[in-house]
Amino acid sequence: MNITHDPAVFKSRLARVRQLMSEKNVDTLILSVGHDLPYLTGYQAMPLERLTLLVVPRDAMASMLIPRLEAPRVVDMPSVFTLVPWNETDDPVAIASRLIGSANTIAVGDQMWARFLVELLAHLPRARYVRAVDIVGPLRRVKDAAEIAALQRASTAVDRIAAQLHAGDIPLIGRTEAQVSAELSARIIAEGHDKVNFAIVAAGENAASPHHHAGPRVIREGEIVLCDFGGTMAGYCSDITRCVHLGDVPPDIAEAYEALQRAQAAGVAAGRIGVSCESVDARTREVIDAAGYGEFFVHRTGHGIGMEEHEDPYIVQGNTTLLEAGHAYSVEPGIYVPGRWGMRLEDIVVATESGPLSLNNTSHDLLSVIA
Ligand code: ZN
Ligand code: ZN
Ligand code: ZN
Repeated sequence: MNITHDPAVFKSRLARVRQLMSEKNVDTLILSVGHDLPYLTGYQAMPLERLTLLVVPRDAMASMLIPRLEAPRVVDMPSVFTLVPWNETDDPVAIASRLIGSANTIAVGDQMWARFLVELLAHLPRARYVRAVDIVGPLRRVKDAAEIAALQRASTAVDRIAAQLHAGDIPLIGRTEAQVSAELSARIIAEGHDKVNFAIVAAGENAASPHHHAGPRVIREGEIVLCDFGGTMAGYCSDITRCVHLGDVPPDIAEAYEALQRAQAAGVAAGRIGVSCESVDARTREVIDAAGYGEFFVHRTGHGIGMEEHEDPYIVQGNTTLLEAGHAYSVEPGIYVPGRWGMRLEDIVVATESGPLSLNNTSHDLLSVIA
């Protein structure tokens, strides 16, 4: 993991957080495990049973309460936060409640363990508790230039793997889905990621299950193989889906794929600033509906991506959030015919002043491969 440690970046993010806190009448923001913490401090806490807690008062210096044994992992930035290590025999929630003091409204990060929040409620029963996502979420979903560059590097790396798949460099026929998944995972690391997040490999009828878990099923000639994979590189995620067909593509699959490809392209093209997330979803859905496959497109069009593989903004009916420059998200319609086959096509897209920028550019065709 190698998120920036430039204090200027975190000072400016915290300044915007404090501005939103005052707009929303929040006195103190508290963040534990999850990705809001590294976004604001450069430090990612392991999801341990010991409490790590960033306490951000609206009008005073932030403190990071941390188990003493974890403190060496923190890149200390005294101009951004004060490090407050706690010892094994201390009560960290009591220390946290002193740091929070007399705050009336406390915004809590979504991923704070319930056990600590329940204890904190007992220490500070009169405070009003709200979700921190309303403060940090709007900031995190607008990526700055450095974040977009990081997403582009990760996307380009998985594009190279998709090209290897298309070129027949990854053996498929006669191997199990699990073996191919392991090979994709190894290539994700070989192409520069720090971590594999997932490597879905689904052959034939298994591809009709969108999040199929790669298993012992042997891949055979004459079937479609769906590969959806991604990892984390320098703190930012990649996520791509491509399908290949082992041998000649039968007419029913070719016809469905043609609709899928048009739907995906329409969804990418719809990503203009000021357009709602739900209308991007509607663009992919109407193409698939018109082609007669509507009942087989069983999920939203996409999800935001950044430090997490799934985050705001979600490209789904009901999300009226308007796209802004710097929003990064997937466009990944699919068609899944139970018992027969499935297909999905996925790129990561960034909304920019000059229109939608696709970070994945490997061929979007259903290539016939013998490998
Ligand atoms: Zn998914
Ligand atoms: Zn994916
Ligand atoms: Zn995705």
